[in-house]
Amino acid sequence: MLVTLVESADPKHVEASLQGLGLWIQRLEAPAGGRPALWIESHSSAVGAERIALVEGVAEVRAPKSPHPALDAARGASLSCGAVALGPGAAPVLMAGPCSIESPQQIAQAAAMAKRAGAKLLRGGAFKPRTSPYAFSGHGRQALGWLREAADAEGLGVVTEVMSELEVDAVARAADVIQLGSRNMQNFALLRAVGASHKPVLLKRGMAATVHEWLLAGEHLLAAGAAGVIFCERGICGFDRSTRNLLDLGAVALLARVHGLPVVVDPSHAAGRRDLIPALASAALAAGAHGLLVEAHPDPAHAMSDGPQALDEQGLAALGRALP
Ligand code: PEP
Ligand code: MN
Repeated sequence: MLVTLVESADPKHVEASLQGLGLWIQRLEAPAGGRPALWIESHSSAVGAERIALVEGVAEVRAPKSPHPALDAARGASLSCGAVALGPGAAPVLMAGPCSIESPQQIAQAAAMAKRAGAKLLRGGAFKPRTSPYAFSGHGRQALGWLREAADAEGLGVVTEVMSELEVDAVARAADVIQLGSRNMQNFALLRAVGASHKPVLLKRGMAATVHEWLLAGEHLLAAGAAGVIFCERGICGFDRSTRNLLDLGAVALLARVHGLPVVVDPSHAAGRRDLIPALASAALAAGAHGLLVEAHPDPAHAMSDGPQALDEQGLAALGRALP
């Protein structure tokens, strides 16, 4: 049950009164401009809504009609990502850059390429999740500085992945949007820490996650205080390995058109090969996606990760021209 408090109430005080009734309470970080609110796990509740409504400081008690009330409240609204609006009602946003940040020169060249193609945000990984412990896993904190500098030089925003709770503050300082990778979609401690940074979050769908699990991971972020969530479909595991992953455009249409949430598509990790990216990108926009997250590299043949799926300067420019 969602318990909204009167504005003058002290949430700690109301919480204590409700705990006194034997209830399990969770304080919700109020979204910007919202009222303080608490969540009561209905299974733990032997006490009805009428009794809860009598507690001093409680304004309203209601049983939300869905398991993700914070996402429902965000319905239809676009999100400010630095200087850029992304989501329902906003023009499609291109986010582009290399899989990983390799050097200050490489990311500066990538930023210039991204800018020329019309991108609004620069992507690039400083912390890379890699299947093998021996693969290049990013230059870490120092690369965050290179990324921010390159983006600033071109007037771009920054989106970059965080992999550990220990790095959330550093990534939040460098980024306009924090990326949560597929492999961490249900790392709940990390979701809470990222939410507490109050930044917008790009939440990649886990490669074997249902839409329901994905939505509730987004709800975790909002409940922890995230400024907003951008859902990023990057392909799920299918039975056929002809493409790297199976791009689920039904999920994109569902989230964008039925739930009214900000959705972007990463055709690069879906396809795993650069020649399919233009087709997947147009299909994504037709399905209702509000933007694209695309890998691009000044010299794809020598990329330290994901070279085969990286667009070069010309490929990225062509994609930019095809955007409405
Ligand atoms: C990425 O975008 O850099 C990445 C690692 O993608 P994913 O989490 O979708 O595999
Ligand atoms: Mn990659």
